Amino acid sequence: MEAGIVGLPNVGKSTLFNALTSTQGAQAANYPFCTIEPNEGIVTVPDERLRRITNFIKPQKVIPTYLKLVDIAGIVKGASEGQGLGNKFLSHIRQVDAILQVVRCFEDDDVIHVAGKVDPVSDVETIETELMLADMQTLENALPKAERSAKSGDKEAKVRVAAIQRCQAHLAQDQPLRKLEMPPAEAKEIASYGLMSAKPILYIANVDESDLHGTGELASAVRVFAEKVGASVVPVCAKLEAELAELEEPDRSEMLESVGLAQPALSLVAREAYRTLGLQSYFTAGEKEVRAWPVPIGATAPQAAGVIHSDFERGFIRCEVYSLSDLEEFKSEKDIRQAGKLRTEGKTYVMQDGDICHFLFNV
Ligand code: GDP
Repeated sequence: MEAGIVGLPNVGKSTLFNALTSTQGAQAANYPFCTIEPNEGIVTVPDERLRRITNFIKPQKVIPTYLKLVDIAGIVKGASEGQGLGNKFLSHIRQVDAILQVVRCFEDDDVIHVAGKVDPVSDVETIETELMLADMQTLENALPKAERSAKSGDKEAKVRVAAIQRCQAHLAQDQPLRKLEMPPAEAKEIASYGLMSAKPILYIANVDESDLHGTGELASAVRVFAEKVGASVVPVCAKLEAELAELEEPDRSEMLESVGLAQPALSLVAREAYRTLGLQSYFTAGEKEVRAWPVPIGATAPQAAGVIHSDFERGFIRCEVYSLSDLEEFKSEKDIRQAGKLRTEGKTYVMQDGDICHFLFNV
């Protein structure tokens, strides 16, 4: 699962990307993805529940989950018609699972705005429009072939035609595909198109140092827009985050305190991006390691086991599960078991965020 950073030029994408990924060099070795391209980075997803678990279980290692970020660079108006590096960027967006759009909410006369003035809602609409136009083209190109196949009796192609037409009708009303409800069979038929306005999106409001919590007019306008299109917003001051990322402790904590932030906003970005990707975490906890694992919301226990190793999914028998609050109440797994709070769950169990598990499986 990966998220792509997009935005107009000069909104702070690179500043943010570098801050997010700068301290991660050492983590990359731990990371299960094979190759990391120059415009890709690995970001830790901070999770304070890991620390709470280690209050009771003392492991040799603590391993968080990670996200892969792709810096997709600037999109400009007209990208869907090939303006700028238009089509190349759009093809990158097609491959990511979620979009993180950096939106300029900071005023700075020294930083030129491509549209001449700082107007975050207009910027967000510009990009949304480009994504929708590109989707229209994709659908238009795909329709004739699907219709031909449908005519010659291909049942799946018939479903595909219905899906394409449903999306076209929705886009014609100037609505991104993100909020379109579609029968699963139709969604499956067009999944490979990588329709961009259907991808979950998170707006990162790059705010002024004077508005770190994003309560000002510009960031608030983004929030109102986001609600309409089914997206979330996190306020971040990229410039400040870049400075914070350069500091070592205790200087970093001192600087955070002096600006009135409880934690770097980058932590919030990573967590929100994770959620935008539709992921949640479960934990394995033993003396060797305490580790967070990413799993799609709604995944079953065997699927969760498969994140650790595909053999675990195939040979899944059952899992033993407890919660962090059980651990905090009973202090050890042994005492949780004795209290009868260690649950045994089978193949149909739907994982809950924060479950602490052991999987039992056949190999
Ligand atoms: P990109 O084109 O979107 O990747 O933008 P950059 O990250 O290169 O930033 C463009 C310019 O804006 C650079 O000069 C940054 O230093 C500046 N910049 C980025 N974030 C902020 C911010 O939060 N506040 C201010 N004042 N300037 C910023």
